[in-house]
Amino acid sequence: MPVHMGIMCDRCQRVHFIATSPGIEFLQSVGAMYRLRCKPPCAEDRVFRKDEMRPYRVSDEAFRRGYADEGEYEPLPGIENMSPRADPEAS
Ligand SMILES: [Zn+2]
Repeated sequence: MPVHMGIMCDRCQRVHFIATSPGIEFLQSVGAMYRLRCKPPCAEDRVFRKDEMRPYRVSDEAFRRGYADEGEYEPLPGIENMSPRADPEAS
């Protein structure tokens, strides 16, 4: 399955994809900030930064829809968790 950048809703654990979700809006006036409005019945409405996005492995179908519910996506390890010491060739 392909990998896409998304942002997870803290309330309902639904992942929204930046490229396709109608609930994500780029806020040009405040720099690199985005606004996430989750789908009803979830009432989440918050602003997040680009670096809060994470890669998720999802089906093309979920990506085209704009979001994936819990169980439909697989989070990938974040780049921030990879330290040089985790490189197997260094040990
Ligand atoms: Zn939500």
